[in-house]
Amino acid sequence: MTTAEPSAAAETLAYPPRRTEFTEPFWGGLAAGVLRTTRCAGCAHLTFPPKPICPECWGSELEWIDLGGRGTLYSYTEVSVAPATFAGEAPYVLCLVDLDEGIRCLSRIDAPWDALRPDLRVRMRVRETEPVRLFEFEVDDSEEIR
Ligand SMILES: [Zn+2]
Repeated sequence: MTTAEPSAAAETLAYPPRRTEFTEPFWGGLAAGVLRTTRCAGCAHLTFPPKPICPECWGSELEWIDLGGRGTLYSYTEVSVAPATFAGEAPYVLCLVDLDEGIRCLSRIDAPWDALRPDLRVRMRVRETEPVRLFEFEVDDSEEIR
């Protein structure tokens, strides 16, 4: 597992994520620039965020897989009045993305509001934050519009 050092310009998170032994592969993935999640070894169900137990069959044998980080914008909203912890970051845009692997995830998207529309192709990118890297989405202009 790669553990890239955050750059000197990394933003220090006001509310760092809770890290556990179980979630380390997820944070290690982001350190290496890869979005990861869990897949059930029994029924192949994907979950996001990663879960130690399959919500479909209750199996506890799960494997970590790398996601492609590309998807389609399902919905989005601008947060202009943020919770106190994130007030300094407002306004920011939250989005729901349907990843190409068939799972929906909530994140931020870094794009001008006027550039957004449902079904827009987006891709994951790493946010340079400390103590762990986070992810967000950006408009994927490397693909033709479907
Ligand atoms: Zn399962």
